[in-house]
Amino acid sequence: MTGLLRTGAAFVLGCVLSVAGLNFASLSLPGLDVTGLNFAGPAVAADGPIFIRDAEIESTLRRVADPILRAAGVTPATTDLYLIRDQEMNAFVANGQNIFLHTGMITRLATIDQLRGVIAHETAHIVGGHLARRGQAMTGGRNIMLLGMLGAAAAGVAGAPDASVAIAAGSQQVATRDMLAFTRGEEAAADQAGVRYVAAAGGDASAVLDVLRTLRGQQALLSGQTDPYAQTHPLSSERITMLREKIATLPRGEPPSAEEVYWYDRMVTKLDAFLDRPSQTLRDHPPSDQSEMARLARAIAYHRQPDLARAGHEMDALIAMRPDDPFYIELKGQFLLEIGKAGEAVATYRRAAELAPKEALILSGLGRALLNTEAPGATEEARDVLVRSTRLDGRNSDALRDLALAEARLGNEGEAALATAERFAMTGTARDVLRNATRAADLLPVGSPGWRRAQDMITIARRALRR
Ligand SMILES: [Zn+2]
Repeated sequence: MTGLLRTGAAFVLGCVLSVAGLNFASLSLPGLDVTGLNFAGPAVAADGPIFIRDAEIESTLRRVADPILRAAGVTPATTDLYLIRDQEMNAFVANGQNIFLHTGMITRLATIDQLRGVIAHETAHIVGGHLARRGQAMTGGRNIMLLGMLGAAAAGVAGAPDASVAIAAGSQQVATRDMLAFTRGEEAAADQAGVRYVAAAGGDASAVLDVLRTLRGQQALLSGQTDPYAQTHPLSSERITMLREKIATLPRGEPPSAEEVYWYDRMVTKLDAFLDRPSQTLRDHPPSDQSEMARLARAIAYHRQPDLARAGHEMDALIAMRPDDPFYIELKGQFLLEIGKAGEAVATYRRAAELAPKEALILSGLGRALLNTEAPGATEEARDVLVRSTRLDGRNSDALRDLALAEARLGNEGEAALATAERFAMTGTARDVLRNATRAADLLPVGSPGWRRAQDMITIARRALRR
């Protein structure tokens, strides 16, 4: 990866738990084509964030985050977690109660308690109302793409028809620099509250000191660069001292349970295997290592090479270890679909969906597999499954694209236009939304739920275009 380090350019400046630096040109890096994980649509925008969607990883992040949120007095259901594909070690909050984590933050932290510490610190920014004080920055034009996506996500596809949808319009730049710089006072407050939440959730608050040490180490690597924020950013000894004093007053906490560690390890293993070069993954996890995590890493690396026989062999070994694990079965279904075995993928995804009927991303995988088969009734089934998926999860633009395709194949042009309008509300422009919502309103029965939803989107799109 040498030669890819950009110095002094386009840093994303998050809050304290980020440090400017180590920007890899991940979008154009050969060999880093992460086909495996599901990316939300805006992914493709060259200058927008790439969101990684993965049922297992999201479920694990919730396991880690929810106890922290509850300890902070925040209802977990009101807080969304977003995973951004970015090697830079960063985490931030935006648009109300949304927590964003870079993949680089997760893969470079060493323990579940460190991750708890990061999430708790971000939660403290939410609870402290630090974002609310930046209302102006948040509505600045350059942020509108991100806000649009988030607004759409918050409203949900078949969610409350009255929920307003912020519509993306204008530049697709995400101006995190302006929006996310907190004051020293806010950072200190978030530090102190964050460690309290970790301790209240039963975790080891002192782990956050290790996070700061890691961040400091990275900052040292960047001493030549001139970004003033990085230089004044308070990753100072004073800050660490204050934090250490606070931690000394808190209960020590319990070590994480074996189950917590297991899911955490799986998340990191999966992310690393999808993000590192396969050759690197195979060096890190040679076939002599027969452990479950090594097999998981190799299954993904072989699939990406592609070495289909070896990938299938490792995947089957994993499923034999855990026959009722919906995420392993889903991963096998994904592999099958990506190598063009749609019929087998359908059967595999179906089994995963039986085991986890509420996992929207497994349902959307099943829907996509069905759309790739010629079996009788497959399109109808795909439509039904994708409707369920998008109702459970309103921020999956790929599922909306597939739903529109299924509806169009079934001759339901109004429903297809509505799904397309929903997708553009997340990833496109107000003009795209207006065009498709108008078409949906013309085609759908007057007064039907879809028609009402189309009317709402027309209103909001027009409002966005007037601005
Ligand atoms: Zn912060």
